[in-house]
Amino acid sequence: MPAEEANLEILRPRSGRRRPSPAPTIIFDADDTLWVTQWLYDQAEQETRLIVEAAGLDGNRWDEIFQEHDRKNVARFGFGPGRIPTSVVAAYTQLCEESGTTVRIDILGELIRSASSMFRRKAPLVGGVQDVLEALRPDYQLVLLTKGDPRLQRKRIKESGLARYFDAIVIVPDKNPDVFSKVCTEFGADLSRSWSVGNSLPSDIAPAMRAGLRGVLVEANSWNYEKRDSGIIPGKFEKLERLRDLPQLLARIAKGPMFRHEGLAS
Ligand SMILES: [Mg+2]
Repeated sequence: MPAEEANLEILRPRSGRRRPSPAPTIIFDADDTLWVTQWLYDQAEQETRLIVEAAGLDGNRWDEIFQEHDRKNVARFGFGPGRIPTSVVAAYTQLCEESGTTVRIDILGELIRSASSMFRRKAPLVGGVQDVLEALRPDYQLVLLTKGDPRLQRKRIKESGLARYFDAIVIVPDKNPDVFSKVCTEFGADLSRSWSVGNSLPSDIAPAMRAGLRGVLVEANSWNYEKRDSGIIPGKFEKLERLRDLPQLLARIAKGPMFRHEGLAS
């Protein structure tokens, strides 16, 4: 996709801070990097499972079928709430067919309501996230780059209370190298001292590195969709178990070339 078609929605222009240009920049992913959506997904899944089991159907099989349909539907409907009714109808119908039972409209309604609850609930913040952003703000331009349903993302950004830490917030339909390049150009990022930080190799690390950024993978509990094949990673990236440790990691790397990369090369 050409950069001009990257379709960036910039929610908040650069803050009044004067930055040298090009500026060392950190581009943060949001879902499951700054706040936890996996937890909302798991909770909705458990609830739907209870509904299915109360209707006398196999909960394990429900989990499998629902996840399968839901992953497929991301490609068609995106990451927003719009895909849930389709995923639920397809999964519940298949489960009923497999078990030789009749589809019940009341159960279907209950399942859709319950599965959709993941989009209504507030996503809890990752531990220590405010401290991390506060610590990095003096030395880096901070950009939040998130993909997905724009309404849902705007809601999560607002509920998080984190907008004030960022120089810019950008919402995109998907992440690819052109999107990262466009963001870097738009905000004057100094590529030699800039990072992409996120929980997904295919979304946050691989495309950012192809655009010339360095990557830090924060190994949060990622949704299945983020575990899809990321192709070849161009070079080495860093790995962290907790976002909390990001300032120390970057400080150590900035100190000198002797730091040993712990990322995987392929
Ligand atoms: Mg993410």
